[in-house]
Amino acid sequence: MAVPWYPRSWAALIAALTLLLVTGCAGGDEPPPTVESSSAAPGPPSGTPAPPTSATGGDGTGDDGGKSVEGDIDAAVSVTNTYWQTHWPQLFTGGYNPPRLLGAYDGGTPGSPVCGSEPLPDDNAVYCPDGDYIAWDMDLMRWGHARGDAWVYLVIAHEWGHAVQNRLDAGLVDLARELQADCLAGAVLFGAAQDGTLTFEEGDTEELADALTALADRTPWTDIADHGDASQRVSYFSRGARSGVKSCLPNAIE
Ligand SMILES: [Zn+2]
Repeated sequence: MAVPWYPRSWAALIAALTLLLVTGCAGGDEPPPTVESSSAAPGPPSGTPAPPTSATGGDGTGDDGGKSVEGDIDAAVSVTNTYWQTHWPQLFTGGYNPPRLLGAYDGGTPGSPVCGSEPLPDDNAVYCPDGDYIAWDMDLMRWGHARGDAWVYLVIAHEWGHAVQNRLDAGLVDLARELQADCLAGAVLFGAAQDGTLTFEEGDTEELADALTALADRTPWTDIADHGDASQRVSYFSRGARSGVKSCLPNAIE
């Protein structure tokens, strides 16, 4: 994925996504870390979060294929924040305020940051409501980025979705929080493509499906903490991609 230098048609994107849904997704091979949200005990996070940056990248070189994981993370943060900043007033009442960015951490090491009283999980990514921040273990990001750069966009947009949930009235938050976060991620990434702030490159939609599959539970959603199985994750993501943020809200009519 890249910040744009050439437009790829919206219709082509949706066609690729539809194809994905029909054919299912390439199965993930190996031992994926799960992307989890939150734990919620009190206490401030350690570290000094930086505010999200506004639009960076998009320098017009078009040479984004070999971007570093750090560069893709920066771009994903910028694209996601810009989407919410731009569209929040059309979607919700009140002003938009972005979550804080704790950024990269090294899970499982002494002194790694905490959410409440719990250390941030190893090989994972989080939105921590207590402290209102997003953070990611770089091992998760590197592992996924090696599979495809779309990975980091999905993880950032998904965690940002949890931050958005935390800003909404309870009635707008789906009981299946993880699947709703996937739906919001789809709405953001495809919405950003429509806005022209993100360009999908060849293979990106397949990478997104691969990432959702790799990060899925082995069993379908039954409980608030579940992420859902691969077909559910792809299905919710695709709903948001096709029909936007409002389709992710409870009782939405597609
Ligand atoms: Zn989550």
